[in-house]
Amino acid sequence: MHNDIERVLFTESQIAQRVRELGQQISHEYTKLLGEKLSQEPPIAVGLLRGAVVFLADLTRAMTIPVEYDFIAVSSYGMGSTPGQIQLLKDLEKPIAGRHVLLVEDIVDTGQTLAHLIELLRARHPASLKICALLDKTPRRTRNVTIDYVGFTLAEDAFVVGYGLDYAERYRNLPYIAALKKSAITT
Ligand code: 5GP
Repeated sequence: MHNDIERVLFTESQIAQRVRELGQQISHEYTKLLGEKLSQEPPIAVGLLRGAVVFLADLTRAMTIPVEYDFIAVSSYGMGSTPGQIQLLKDLEKPIAGRHVLLVEDIVDTGQTLAHLIELLRARHPASLKICALLDKTPRRTRNVTIDYVGFTLAEDAFVVGYGLDYAERYRNLPYIAALKKSAITT
């Protein structure tokens, strides 16, 4: 697995540090927003399956406020790395009308997936919708999307894996985020 890695971009300890900071910032801002109401109506962290699972698990444990989980799945990339049609594969289990929703994404690349998800979730009238993305990969952005909380910005167009991110369902369990060798990409 490690032999297919070209270069580590963010180490395990850099990720842990940044996730801790994000958890604190998010907790602080929701406390300011909701105050007393936090315990009755905690925000719902909506994880985008499957890439955001590892991030969501660490991020929510770095948060000091109550939080609920739900998950949504879309497919856009198939097995490889070429963008395609966006399809809803798994919907949320609970209604979000009147709830505070924190959408947790692994990586924003063109912004198509995020723009689609924002439209889908907004139409359900949440009390608020905030976006948290582990990685903001900027070079191929075609949609103007606002990301409220960003783990790391990636200014290069590298295909990255690890810490939940896959290539053809592999490498998700690497503890760091790394660029994959071109030779390991088969499409
Ligand atoms: P977008 O719609 O913004 O172009 O793409 C978002 C989705 O594409 C992400 O949720 C992720 O599944 C996939 N993606 C984009 N760039 C990368 C990358 O560098 N590595 C991996 N593993 N997935 C990526």
